Amino acid sequence: MNMDTPKMNMKKTVLGICIPALFLAGCAGIGKMGTKEFQTSFFAMDTYISLTAYGENGDTALEDAQRKMEELEALWSATDENSEIYAINSSGGKTVTVSEETKDLLDFVFSMADKTDGALEPTIYPVLLAWGFTTGENRIPKEDELQTLLQDVGHERIQIEGNEVTLPEGMMLDMGAVGKGYTGDVLVGILKEAGITSALLDLGGNVQVIGTKPDGSRWRLGLRNPFDTEGYLGVLEIADAAVVTSGSYERYFIGEDGKRYGHIIDPSTGYPVENGLASVTVVAKEGKLGDALSTSLFIMGREKAEAYWREHGDFDMILITDEGKLYITEGIADAFSLSGGFGNMEVHVVGKDQGE
Ligand code: ADP
Ligand code: MG
Repeated sequence: MNMDTPKMNMKKTVLGICIPALFLAGCAGIGKMGTKEFQTSFFAMDTYISLTAYGENGDTALEDAQRKMEELEALWSATDENSEIYAINSSGGKTVTVSEETKDLLDFVFSMADKTDGALEPTIYPVLLAWGFTTGENRIPKEDELQTLLQDVGHERIQIEGNEVTLPEGMMLDMGAVGKGYTGDVLVGILKEAGITSALLDLGGNVQVIGTKPDGSRWRLGLRNPFDTEGYLGVLEIADAAVVTSGSYERYFIGEDGKRYGHIIDPSTGYPVENGLASVTVVAKEGKLGDALSTSLFIMGREKAEAYWREHGDFDMILITDEGKLYITEGIADAFSLSGGFGNMEVHVVGKDQGE
């Protein structure tokens, strides 16, 4: 959740008379180049969402986008008793028929679980529950409790045939790592369909942009400092892309032992990830890929994440270590600049050939 538009930028995209925190419906104005600007903010998928679109039809397109996001949340929430994910989780091993949209999401999530060698593990939910991350009543489970729960974790055991999903009894699914990115792609599709060629979708930690700003310049996104919720390490200039960040500093709790426990679980141990990475930001064409990868590369750690990037290469990334070093892949090195206060930060450009 550490990718946001810098405050200064935010002000630019929002007209003076509109106070962002008070937006419930659309808000229109005329942008710099005479292009109409529309903005809407609401709460969905556990996050504050802010959508900005430029051009004719922006208002109805944003309304459609918001409605769609609420619809997908109602399908995919693990806690909503009416959702399709809830139906699968409480099926007691019986086959459940799901909608086309849920089927597509599941197909994608399961293919990424395979591709990342189970770092992305959609069946980790029972372990997440044991740590209390869904209720906020956090606790540190005992080792043997985790080992028992891990016996019900393993995406290979779920069967998906067409729209029919069968999950063995005791297992549970959670789309938390990918749902928002997948939704971002659907919203981009809705806006493009409506003829929008310039838009900024801020889904708290997932930012997706259509085209460039109306004046033709690239969008400038602030890269949040994982060690301090205020302030930005630097600025990334992008067009037509998704930028997704995962880290353990946004959702975490401090245990009785004084240690910090984050909400991203290493499926090989059942414990929150602790591997020297503070955050992973992925820049990709699609939000679903960015979201799946930001979570799984964070779990893999720096060396495996670099190896994964060298092997697959259809994205770029910025890794920030607990020691405050920054690793950026060569594809976006020129698009990133450090903020004034971080000029001394150790920056490494990761290239394709420098195998380790
Ligand atoms: P955020 O939701 O904060 O933007 P992520 O996209 O990284 O961050 O997703 C984190 C969420 O993914 C957790 O809150 C949890 O619901 C789920 N999760 C945690 N560990 C895993 C894992 N190993 N595989 C898949 N999902 C996970
Ligand atoms: Mg993710």
